[in-house]
Amino acid sequence: MKFQSTRNKDLRLDSAETIIRGLSDDGGLFVPVEIPMLEKGEIAELSKLDYCERAKRIFAKYMTDFSKDELLECAKNAYIGNFEDDTPTPIVKLGESTYMLELWHGPTCAFKDMALQILPHFLVKSAEKAGDGKKTVILTATSGDTGKAALEGFCDVDGTEIIVFYPQNGVSKIQQLQMQTQKGKNVTVCGVMGNFDDTQTAVKSIFTDENIRAELAGKGKRFSSANSINVGRLLPQIVYYISAYADLLKNGEIAEGETVNVTVPTGNFGNILAAYYAKRMGVPFGKLICASNANNVLTEFLSTGGYNINRNFYLTESPSMDILVSSNLERLLFELCGKDDEYVSAAMESLYEHGEYYITDEMLAYLRENFPAGYTDDKSARNRIKILFDEYSYLCDTHTAVAVEVYEKYREKTGDNTKTIIASTASPYKFPRAVLKAISGKNYRNDFNAAKELERISGLPMPEQLRSLAKKEPRFTSVCKREEMADFVLSTVGGEG
Ligand SMILES: *Cc1c(COP(=O)(O)O)cnc(C)c1O
Repeated sequence: MKFQSTRNKDLRLDSAETIIRGLSDDGGLFVPVEIPMLEKGEIAELSKLDYCERAKRIFAKYMTDFSKDELLECAKNAYIGNFEDDTPTPIVKLGESTYMLELWHGPTCAFKDMALQILPHFLVKSAEKAGDGKKTVILTATSGDTGKAALEGFCDVDGTEIIVFYPQNGVSKIQQLQMQTQKGKNVTVCGVMGNFDDTQTAVKSIFTDENIRAELAGKGKRFSSANSINVGRLLPQIVYYISAYADLLKNGEIAEGETVNVTVPTGNFGNILAAYYAKRMGVPFGKLICASNANNVLTEFLSTGGYNINRNFYLTESPSMDILVSSNLERLLFELCGKDDEYVSAAMESLYEHGEYYITDEMLAYLRENFPAGYTDDKSARNRIKILFDEYSYLCDTHTAVAVEVYEKYREKTGDNTKTIIASTASPYKFPRAVLKAISGKNYRNDFNAAKELERISGLPMPEQLRSLAKKEPRFTSVCKREEMADFVLSTVGGEG
């Protein structure tokens, strides 16, 4: 199995090299040259295995330059002991046909842990395979959750350093504290004056800047990315969708081959893209419902075929979805246009130059059939949190609420009652003020007081890793301008490897 760049089909690399590079030098994203298929009856077989064994089998289809033992070792290092339970991704059934796939039982309480707990292990093994002894510098832009999950995953991992940039006013207090208090001798965190798109764009340009790369190489180092552009994040996300289907089968909730829809609260299009790959691999997924908040650029794109970022940017109560440039969409575009790297390059050039691009009617027809989309504002999302709590005593976070709300609207409109997996992407205690306001109408200013009240009302305990933040002193308080990010990176990685 090889991976190719969405902007240069002829570049073909194995998975280790792909994971090391993160982003292709041409600015493109790596995608598998061919999406591997599950064999007939394989999902039923998978349903008899535990999570790590399932992961091993699925990874092995993509990462043919790794041995199966290596893949199993990576999975065990990532998923055993770091999650609340033996099953890292439990499913909670609500009502007749809705299955909440809870992806947030890891160390940082968001779904990003599913990929970022394993990425460092992939990366260390990939670097061994590359055998050039270079140290890896992980450069990451975060809309709130990736940053902490990456810091936690890479903390004190030999041969790696990590720098995280977050939009100073674009993350929740708890998210900021999680990052600012990170321990470890190889970690650095910095706020940026700007929004997530500014931060992500600047990181991408540092990444591909030849002077900076050369300077790094002189120190025996190279960049890699922990953002969802890295194939090493996409693959673990494919696993939990296949695993969820296998679990539903195992528990008798569905019959073999039964169609199940998937609803995903979407920002950078990484999580929903993984569901798409799972579907392409042969999992009987029907509609992939794309849920957005007020930053509804994807809703518009998936219904009109025009991607246009010349619009207002809103800070919402679901900050990890406050994104206008959804990086991973480029991968879907590549598949949609028949793997035409020139088409993708031109579209991305147009997005960069003019802030927009348009796809063909044929591509749009495919999207409309496969990716119904909707968006909702903070108020309706909060209302949905209250409904779920009142009806099912189920507490969900603000991002997940966007998904449930959009899904319910979709169901009302279409009458499509197909069973649905909804990706539940964060613990409600990551956004306690908004969640408390939703269920009780009370406005708190302090996250930890809100969390206490939320515990009292719901009886659901706050995860210890969030509770303990209240007592920790921030360690990283730097803030820089966009233009200063490159210098910040150079001064941070200044030391010899
Ligand atoms: C990152 C994130 C999302 C969006 O996921 P994408 O892969 O960027 O689409 C949704 N919810 C939460 C809680 C997140 O952290």
